[in-house]
Amino acid sequence: MGTDLVKPGLSWSRSRSAVFNACRRQYFYKHHLSWDGWNHDAPERRRLAYRLSKMTSFPFLAGIAAHEAIRRTLCSVRDGRPLRMSSVDVARDVIKRVKDGAVGRGWLQRPKAYPPLEEYYYDGNPSPEERERWWKVAKSSVEAFTASPLFAWIRRSNPADWLAVDEPANYDNPEVFEIDGCRVWCRPDFAMRWRDKCLIFDWKTGSPKDDDRRQLHAYALHARACWGFDTSNIRTVAVHLGEFGVLRRAFKVTRDALDAVEADIRGELFEMRKAESAGDVEEHWALATDAAACTRCFFREICPAVSAVPAHKRTEVRERFTGEPV
Ligand code: SF4
Repeated sequence: MGTDLVKPGLSWSRSRSAVFNACRRQYFYKHHLSWDGWNHDAPERRRLAYRLSKMTSFPFLAGIAAHEAIRRTLCSVRDGRPLRMSSVDVARDVIKRVKDGAVGRGWLQRPKAYPPLEEYYYDGNPSPEERERWWKVAKSSVEAFTASPLFAWIRRSNPADWLAVDEPANYDNPEVFEIDGCRVWCRPDFAMRWRDKCLIFDWKTGSPKDDDRRQLHAYALHARACWGFDTSNIRTVAVHLGEFGVLRRAFKVTRDALDAVEADIRGELFEMRKAESAGDVEEHWALATDAAACTRCFFREICPAVSAVPAHKRTEVRERFTGEPV
């Protein structure tokens, strides 16, 4: 399928990199075909790609809810005003809002405000145990954070020294740096100035991943480029949160480490640019060679490698034959 709209400029982020490395076709759906799909008069396939690009799943949602609760908790400390609800209730509210929107198919009209949830969209009706499991991940992460000595220490610090509080990516924000003319989006969850040091924290609700070191070092690049810190004065810490409490993993920042991550990002941007020069023809973007990549891919409804039938279409077909809602 050809496209003729102006595409967004090439940029690098951890999530974009993950999609690119998982599957070129998935990258095409997420970063090209979905473009302009928010317009009601866009072609149906483009609108579908946009809907699927907004999809989330319980594991992601647990992380999103915990991050939002921590962000709002820190903002309330910074702004000197109490939260209108407890931190745990903020997380609960995020999950409920997304779940209710997904069940009510709010994504039919407004996928950005009401993203589809993979477990409802494809699987139909996730079990209460499954929902409970991920709610516990979000809840225990928030509880671990708010009870931690780290949070108590942050509360005692001067908010004037805070450099970042998990603000969403914003094209108007001047605090962004470039590599080879491409924006690199890697703003930390939380960062603050402490004496002559820059302390960078990344909240984690999942288990440690191979890519964590690169992510934290990319944040260090941001601190160096946007806040002017010397490499030797940057500290990065992944903070794992959960039922076990708080587990901190520090990643040493050295000139060699930052040179390596910068070269890595530069190499990926080169590969992305090369892939994009193949054009806007869907078939030019390779399908995943490892079928495991397709198992939980959000685009499996639109992708010919799977052509999954989502739950709402299965229901509609059954209704047509039996006349009864299932
Ligand atoms: S279903 Fe598989 S081949 Fe298709 S976009 Fe997803 S990961 Fe790629």
